[in-house]
Parts: sequence; C-alpha cells; structure tokens
Amino acid sequence: MKIVRAKGPEIFDIELEKDLLAKNRRLARENRKRLDQLRIVSIDVMGSVGSGKTSLIKGILRKLAMGEAAAVIAGDLTTTIDAERIEQEGARVIQVNTGKECHLDAHLVGQAIDKMKLVGVKVLFIENVGNLICPGEFPLGAHRRIVVVSVTEGPYTLMKHPYIFREADVIVLNKIDMAKAMKVSPTQMEKDAQKVNPHALFIRANALTGTGIARVIEALGLKR
Ligand code: MG
Repeated sequence: MKIVRAKGPEIFDIELEKDLLAKNRRLARENRKRLDQLRIVSIDVMGSVGSGKTSLIKGILRKLAMGEAAAVIAGDLTTTIDAERIEQEGARVIQVNTGKECHLDAHLVGQAIDKMKLVGVKVLFIENVGNLICPGEFPLGAHRRIVVVSVTEGPYTLMKHPYIFREADVIVLNKIDMAKAMKVSPTQMEKDAQKVNPHALFIRANALTGTGIARVIEALGLKR
C-alpha cells in the first residue's frame, strides 16, 4: 500500500512548536504548584465530542456529593452548555471558551484558577475540549488525566489515537451497554488499551446509569 507521511518541519515551524510546548509545560508546573498549595486534587478529563466527559463528571459529582467542595473548569469552543449541565450537580463551575483552539492549555487554566473561588475546594475537574489529538500534548498541571472513549466511536479508537491514550492514568470505556448494538468488543478494546498504555487503568462504565463510577472514583483516589 502506498502511504504519504507528514514530516513536521516541512509543514510548520518545529522550533516555534517546541517553544510553545515548553512554555505550556512551565505554566502547567505553576498551576500544579498553586493547586498543591491549595490542597486541591485536579483531574484533566479528555476524550472526543460525545464520548461522555460531562456525563462522567456529573456522575462522579453526584456520587461524591461534595457540593461546592468540588469545582469544574469546563472547556469548550463557544458554548456554556456543559457548564450549565455541571452546575446542576451543585459544584462550582467556570466556563473557558477556547474559540477555535482544539484544546485547553495551561495558560487558560491558570486564568480560570485565578477567577475561581477555590477556598474550601478539594477536587477540581478540568473538562478538556472534545478532541482526541491536541489535548494530550498540552498538560494543564492536573494530578491525573482520564481519557473517556465511548463504544459508539467504533472499535478502533484506541489503536488510531495512541498518543492521547498514552497520557492517561485512567481510560474509561463509556456507554458500555451499547457495545453489542455497536458490534464493539469491550474485551478487545481493553486489549488495545493494554498495548497502547499498559500503565493505565481500564474501566467499563455507563456514566448515565452510574455503572463503573465507583471504580473511577477509586482509581482517581477520590474516595472519601
Ligand atoms: Mg462535554
């Protein structure tokens, strides 16, 4: 089979990209330091549009029942839909709109941290922009990273997007009840996850019904 492979330097300025990533890492370390000082555990939630990131966060919040001791930074291009959905669970929430950017970055998260009242907050979820490519490259300073993948995305998502799954501490396979209808094998996807990132915990879940939520909470060390 004939294959055309992109070579970075021919397309964009690789030095510029290196600078950008280095600057982001520095700002991410600053975010982490601030969160540590505030004794807040933070979790970067990544995954495609429609994978169930907001639903998972809502499910976790409902189970933790921490009220305003939980906070969420909701990243999205232009809407406040997710922030409004999360608000229903009683958590503090701030919307970050990235415009045309396909990911949050440490600078934006730093600004959100500035704007939020975080005194008394114990857990901070950061819902990244729905995308399986860019968010992985931009650490935000969070203590742990989750990637949510839904069976409705098809059986090959983990193999096709190895980079972001390598960043994950926890991989959540969501909408598990629909696997059969989608002709997707969760067992095969778990094997793919093992191949791509043997260190990540793989959890089958249905964020809407609550299946697997307790395991996710435990895996994130949020058990109260
Ligand atoms: Mg969402």
